[in-house]
Amino acid sequence: MNFDFDLFVIGGGSGGVRAARLAAAEAGARVGLAEEDRMGGTCVIRGCVPKKLMVFASEYRAAMAEARDYGWQVDIGRFDWPAFRDRLHAELSRLEGLYRANLLKAGVEIFDQRATLVDPHTVRLADGETRTARHILVATGGRPFVPETAPGAELGITSNDVFHLDALPRRLLIVGGGYIACEFACIFNGLGTEVTQFYRGAQILRGFDGEARGHIAEEMRAQGVDLHVGADVDRLERVAEGIRVHATDGREDVFDQVLFATGRVPNTSGLGLEEAGVKLGRRGEVVVDAYSQTSVPSIFAVGDVTNRVNLTPVAIREAVAFVETVFKGNPIPADHDLVPSAVFTQPEYGAVGLTEEEAAEREPIEVYCAAFRPMRTQFIDRPSRVLFKLIVSRETRRILGCHIVADGAGELIQLAGVAVKMGATKEDFDRTVAVHPTMAEEIVLMKTPVRVL
Ligand code: NDP
Repeated sequence: MNFDFDLFVIGGGSGGVRAARLAAAEAGARVGLAEEDRMGGTCVIRGCVPKKLMVFASEYRAAMAEARDYGWQVDIGRFDWPAFRDRLHAELSRLEGLYRANLLKAGVEIFDQRATLVDPHTVRLADGETRTARHILVATGGRPFVPETAPGAELGITSNDVFHLDALPRRLLIVGGGYIACEFACIFNGLGTEVTQFYRGAQILRGFDGEARGHIAEEMRAQGVDLHVGADVDRLERVAEGIRVHATDGREDVFDQVLFATGRVPNTSGLGLEEAGVKLGRRGEVVVDAYSQTSVPSIFAVGDVTNRVNLTPVAIREAVAFVETVFKGNPIPADHDLVPSAVFTQPEYGAVGLTEEEAAEREPIEVYCAAFRPMRTQFIDRPSRVLFKLIVSRETRRILGCHIVADGAGELIQLAGVAVKMGATKEDFDRTVAVHPTMAEEIVLMKTPVRVL
C-alpha cells in the first residue's frame, strides 16, 4: 500500500517531537506531526520548564534573607510577578520556536491542528483532510484532573493556569499532596503568597519513601506552608473577597485562588482510539506492550498518554526505543527500571530505586540514614535539616534505593542514579572518598545502619 507518510505523530510534546525528529533525521522516514496547541507540550509550555523557572524565582527570598545573615546588606523588596511572567512567556516562545525549527530541519511536515484516528492507518485533521501513514504514534500526553465532587470546583484553577495569572494571589489554597501540589506550595510560599495546602491522606507525596515524606512535610511547614493533612475541600463559593472554601474538617476560609493539583489523566477522549480498535485502560490510558505497541499493530503510543512513568525523560526514552524498534530494526523495550526523579519542593527531594517500605517487603535490608543541619545553614542558625538515605540489600549488598532531601537534591540524584543503575553496592559507596566539605559526602560516610529489617 502507498501511504502519505511512514510515520504520523499525534502530539507535539517531548515524546512526539523526539520520535518524529529521530525517525525523519536518522531513519530517513517521511514524517508528519499534528499538534493542536503550542509545540513543546506539557513539559515546555505548561509544566517542567516554566515550573522550574518559577522555582528559581521563588528561591531568592530565602537566599536574600540568608545573605543578610552572612553579612550582606540586602533589601528584599517586592516580587514583580508581571515582569517575571512576561519574561517567562518570552522564554517559552523561544523554546517553542526551537522545537518547531528542529522538526522542520529534520524534514518533518507540521500540521498545526488537531488530528484524530479514522482507522489503523488514517488520521483526520481538524480541517477535514485525511492523511495515511504506515505507522501512527499517539503522544497526546495528559491534562489536569479536577474532582467534580466538590460543588464550586470550577472556581479553582489548575497548573495550566498558574503561569498566566494576572496577579500573584495574596492567599492561595492548594488542593492535593502530589508532585505538583507540593512544588507549587513551595514556589508560591517563596514568592510571598500565604499558602494553605489540603491533602486528603495522612502524609503528602504518597508512593515516596515514608521518612523522606515526613521530612519534607516538616520543612515545608517550617518555611510557612500551612499544610493540613486529612483535609479536603467540601465546597467552594464566590464571595466579594474571593473564594470561600468549606473544608471537610469544618474549617472555612477565603482565598484569592484555589489551585487543584489533584492528579492528571491521559488525553485520549475524542481521539477515535477505541473506534480504531485501540484498547484503553481503566484510567483512559492507551494500553501498550514493552515496545509501546498498542492493540492495533500499526499504532504505537509513548509518554503520559500511556500512564506508565509520567516523566519527560521517560517519554523521550520511550520515543527513542520506539524509533529503534520500528524504524531501525533494533527492537528495544522501554526501560522503566531505576528511574531517578526529583520533586522540586524546597528543599528538593531526589529519589532513585525502592522506598524503605517497598524494599522491606521484598527482602532483608539495612537502612542507612543521616538527617542533619548542613554547614551553610548551621552557620546562620537556621533549623532546616537535610536527609541522606540508602537502602541496602543484606544479601547482595546492592543499593536498592537512594533518597536525598536537600537543596540541589535533583542534581545529586542524577549522579547517584548512575551508580545505583550500575548496581553499586554499599561497599562501593564506602570505597569512594568523600568530597569535603560538602553535605553530599555523607552518602559515602554512613557506617552504621539505623535499622536492620
Ligand atoms: P500526583 O498523582 O502526584 O498527585 C495527585 C494528588 O492529588 C495526590 O495527592 C492525590 O491524593 C490527590 N487527589 C487525587 N484525586 C483527588 C480527589 N478526588 N480529591 C482530593 N485529592 C485528590 O499528580 P500530580 O498532578 O501532582 O502530578 C502528575 C504527574 O506528573 C506525577 O505523577 C509525575 O509523574 C509528573 N510530575 C513530575 C514532576 C517532577 O518530576 N518533578 C513535577 C510534576 C509532575 P492521593 O495520594 O490520596 O491519591
